[in-house]
Formats: sequence, C-alpha cells, structure tokens
Amino acid sequence: MHEVSLVRGVFRSLEEEFNSDQLAKMQTIRMKIGLLSNVEPVLMQNAFNAVKEDNPQYANVNLDIESIPIEVHCDICGKDSVVSNYRFVCDCGIPTNNVVKGEELLIHQVEFLD
Ligand SMILES: [Zn+2]
Repeated sequence: MHEVSLVRGVFRSLEEEFNSDQLAKMQTIRMKIGLLSNVEPVLMQNAFNAVKEDNPQYANVNLDIESIPIEVHCDICGKDSVVSNYRFVCDCGIPTNNVVKGEELLIHQVEFLD
C-alpha cells in the first residue's frame, strides 16, 4: 500500500531530525494533505495505525491530518479561489489551472510532551 511507505517515510524523516529522547516524548504528528496529493487521509490514518503496531516505541503517537482544499490563482482578476468538484474556475468565471494550494503532503508540526 502506497500510504504505508509514506508513513514509514514520515517516521524516517523524524528519526533523522530528532534524537531518541525527543522521539520518546513525541505526542502528535500534524500533517497537511492536499486534495490533489493523491493521498486519502483515511487510508493514511489506517496505514499510520498499522505501522505503529510494528513500531511499539510510537504506540502513544497520534496522527492529525489537516485536509487542504484546492485553490487556484486567477491571472485575470488576481484572486485565489477554492475549487469545488474539481471545477478549475475562478470566482470571476475565468477557467484557470494555476493551482496554488492542494498539492501539499507535508509534516506541518510535531508536538512533544513537556
Ligand atoms: Zn478571476
């Protein structure tokens, strides 16, 4: 499953960034996942739980996913509009494929116990 390797990658990059004392106090991983990232938040959460079972040191860590809507920028009126139902049209009615949000797939914040 695509999401399992993504979750492993998340843990790997955290292991590179933090030492084991810090990792032992890790409480919440906050991720931003855009609607265009091809990652389904529910599947990501399931994969996270599965990977945790294989890595008991992370048993108390939670994953918090913020789903990011798609936004496009319009060169005609200069506004950013939220795309609904994959209709890439600005609020002013001009079609645009200039995506400025929605492709995110990133660790936004990591919280630790004091
Ligand atoms: Zn516009």
